[in-house]
Amino acid sequence: MHSMPVNLLDLSPEEFKKFLDSFDHVFSDCDGVIWAANALPRVGEFFDLIKKHGKTVHFVSNNSIRSQQNYEDKFKEAKIENGFQFLTTPSFAIAGYLKGLNFKKKVYAMACDETVKVLNSHGIETKTGPLLGVDVFDDYVQYLKDDPEIGAVVCDCDFNANLAKVHKAVTYLKRPEVLFLCGATDRHIHFGQGRSALGCSIFTNIVSDETNRSPIVLSKPGKLFGEFAMKKAGVTDPSKVLFIGDMIEQDVGLGKNTGFKTLLLLTNIPKETMLAHKTTRPDFYADSLASLVPLL
Ligand SMILES: [Mg+2]
Repeated sequence: MHSMPVNLLDLSPEEFKKFLDSFDHVFSDCDGVIWAANALPRVGEFFDLIKKHGKTVHFVSNNSIRSQQNYEDKFKEAKIENGFQFLTTPSFAIAGYLKGLNFKKKVYAMACDETVKVLNSHGIETKTGPLLGVDVFDDYVQYLKDDPEIGAVVCDCDFNANLAKVHKAVTYLKRPEVLFLCGATDRHIHFGQGRSALGCSIFTNIVSDETNRSPIVLSKPGKLFGEFAMKKAGVTDPSKVLFIGDMIEQDVGLGKNTGFKTLLLLTNIPKETMLAHKTTRPDFYADSLASLVPLL
């Protein structure tokens, strides 16, 4: 049985104070919490007030696609100062993980350009492609050729994934010593009003199925990713973190896996869906960050 999530707007002032006193750090998701297409209302105010209550504020996103400039622009529009400096994304976690292992070989990346850039900026050499596969199965033999230089396969959001890349990833992963790491696990990407698209994780799943190997998950809801975000934030006690997100699997899932308190915002998911989830429920919920501003 799961305990019933608490609506923060139903709390008395005393109960709300107790809630505020129960954590020292806020880790917040970005897409669907701080911005959708544009910045969501009063988000800057929310984080300013949270800081005035003595909490530290950090950001944790599964989105490695945005460039630093794009993130900086988004934070600025949301009136959040230096947001990028306090942000953890899968690409940085993957680079950090490999550096931590003193990884010296090359990565085969089925990933977006920004992830490749981040890996390269950390001194990790990557191979990618081909952007287009061949049209005849006989010619696929070239993708079944191993490359001993490859020591890890990284799958992170790749809009140009194709059969050839999947073949190459599967080929390298046949060697058990080749690491299999993944970024964003989102199966669906939500656009609000019930609209959603398939996420790039479907390609990671094909590689996983085909190799019978599970990737090391360096994105939400992976515990390693939560721990990486904690390390970056200088936090040692996960129970003192409130994680704010808009997705059950990714955000609440990360909180549960890492030991954070969780607050689900119902920006993309209706209350009924939250309550109907079979395995994962947040500790708290609210409509939006704006709805909490008057309580702070
Ligand atoms: Mg989100």
